[in-house]
Amino acid sequence: MKILVVNAGSSSLKYQLIDMETEAVLAKGGVERIGIEGSFLKAKGNGKEKVYTQDMPNHKIAIELVIKALQDGDIGVIKSMDEIGAVGHRVVASGEYFKKPTLVTPEVRKTLEKTFELAPLHNPAAATGLSACIEVMPETPMALVFDTSFHQTMPEKAYMFGIKYEDYKEYGVRKYGAHGTSHKFVSQEAAKYLGKKPEDLKIVTCHLGNGSSISAVDGGKCVDTSMGFTPLDGVLMGTRSGCIDASAVEFLARKKGLNAADTVTYLNKQCGVAGISGVSSDFRDLDNGAKEGNARCALALDMFAYQTKKFVGSYAAAMGGLDCIVFTAGIGENSPNVREGICEGLEFLGVRLDKEENGKRVDGIHEVSVKNSSVKVLVIPTNEELVIARETAQLL
Ligand code: ADP
Repeated sequence: MKILVVNAGSSSLKYQLIDMETEAVLAKGGVERIGIEGSFLKAKGNGKEKVYTQDMPNHKIAIELVIKALQDGDIGVIKSMDEIGAVGHRVVASGEYFKKPTLVTPEVRKTLEKTFELAPLHNPAAATGLSACIEVMPETPMALVFDTSFHQTMPEKAYMFGIKYEDYKEYGVRKYGAHGTSHKFVSQEAAKYLGKKPEDLKIVTCHLGNGSSISAVDGGKCVDTSMGFTPLDGVLMGTRSGCIDASAVEFLARKKGLNAADTVTYLNKQCGVAGISGVSSDFRDLDNGAKEGNARCALALDMFAYQTKKFVGSYAAAMGGLDCIVFTAGIGENSPNVREGICEGLEFLGVRLDKEENGKRVDGIHEVSVKNSSVKVLVIPTNEELVIARETAQLL
């Protein structure tokens, strides 16, 4: 069976067509600037790439063009739309409405609307992408796969905030986490690589990208994660502040004359390593800046490694042990310096990084701890689309 994985944003739509027999990516691409002048689709298939420039005022037109590209005489990989067995949609937030991946029914679509306020930038866009796909492929089964599902196994003591219990019940304010499909994928890959059952492993997975989150995976299940009610919590990130005393937020809002919504936008868009360095949210720029002697770039990198290290240590304590640390996503996979900064000082837990190995660039899974390190350190490329496709196939 072939599964189309769709990740819809408000003005973008990324996709992959995956053959579930081989788990190979047959085609992939992305539409940008939907509803904005200058929209285009960049599509890959058959080892070739093609750019389609066309007005795409809405997601329906965008998905129609994607289906056309999938059947293109040159880069196409299917003869007819009927070859698409199902569509898996990435959804950022589920709240407590969905505990696991779910097949779409009219009732599910209604429930999805209730999650909009939890991720106002992302979930309405996913629903728009879903509606477009249903219009274009009314006979094809659709599934929703949530970034939060993997974190649903967290115990109450981990996901509760110290607020009035009645308010948690009334408003659903608690930790939900994010990047769940990535944490799930890399923790399973780590177990496979180590030749162990997931049940026998205590793993800390570090998904470090534009957004970063760290998870404690004990016996194959997520028991804690660093992102909270929204992806603003946890370590500082590209432009997000990470966790900060709520009183400091109110104080800052007053000093800067911002209302509540604008303060949260400030914390999401103007802070993090970009705000600290004053240079960039991109860790490559920070590395270069630090090398050139920019103290604020160096501070941003130090803060990121220090805060991430503290999560690794606290999760080892939460799980009562640690067998493996996994690094993934843009920074985790590509920045030896960040990995070194995080592992430095964790020798007391049994973490011994092989600095030379860590400096090498290797395709696929890369073991960067010394041979006799009691805690294995692995770099594992993430593959969220494959998890979405697998979950969708399982639902069928
Ligand atoms: P997203 O959260 O948007 O999916 P990614 O996982 O693609 O983000 O990560 C993007 C980030 O990865 C970039 O902002 C950049 O900071 C970082 N990155 C990519 N390549 C490197 C590199 N070679 N060295 C350091 N950081 C890198």
